[in-house]
Amino acid sequence: MNPAHETLLAIQDRDRRVLDLQKSLDRLPTDRERAKNKLEDDEAAVADLREKATANEIATKNLELDIQTRQDSIAKLKTQQFETRKNEEFRAMGSEIERYAAEVEELEDKELVLMEELESLKSDLGAARKALTDTQSLIDEELTSLDERETEAAKRITQLEEETFALKSKLDEDLVDTYERIFRSKGDFAVVEIRAGVCNGCHMKITPDNIHKAKSSTDIVLCINCGRIVYVLG
Ligand SMILES: [Zn+2]
Repeated sequence: MNPAHETLLAIQDRDRRVLDLQKSLDRLPTDRERAKNKLEDDEAAVADLREKATANEIATKNLELDIQTRQDSIAKLKTQQFETRKNEEFRAMGSEIERYAAEVEELEDKELVLMEELESLKSDLGAARKALTDTQSLIDEELTSLDERETEAAKRITQLEEETFALKSKLDEDLVDTYERIFRSKGDFAVVEIRAGVCNGCHMKITPDNIHKAKSSTDIVLCINCGRIVYVLG
């Protein structure tokens, strides 16, 4: 096998790894954003439940005030009833007391419904707070691991680029330029094997003459169809 082919393959292997690492670095902002969005949903759930619980408590307080007002009126009417000597007035006050008492009962029923609702809101809020705490620690872990991924990838890229630089120094400059141009334009492979007489990059036939040249230890042959550098293993 042409030694230049071997060196080119070693360079290509590193260049491809750099591309993969670069892609994982490019994904980082999205990955971080996604992690933080998870927290926003949980925070919104807690805020929503807290708001509902506050609204419930205000409504309960208002009901209690309404009940108290009516109970005060009942107490006042009972005192007046005790003081009056007129039967008609006594009866009128009595029916007013009954009306207030009925209203109090109705308001107390509403209060009971609100209290039950508050119980379930509180338990939901507890669960939502727990979920938020859990998500927070998951996200902290995720963000830490993303930071580690970033550091590792950057370090690895530097290493690979140093290795590539050293490998390229062994080759003819024009060949390096050709390789780089093909790798950039194809975005996947610049150097491909000839298998069963076809280019492994575009799967088109390679002429016997070119196969023969690709086997030599000096010639560099490009696939006439896709323009990649072709080689024969062995
Ligand atoms: Zn080809």
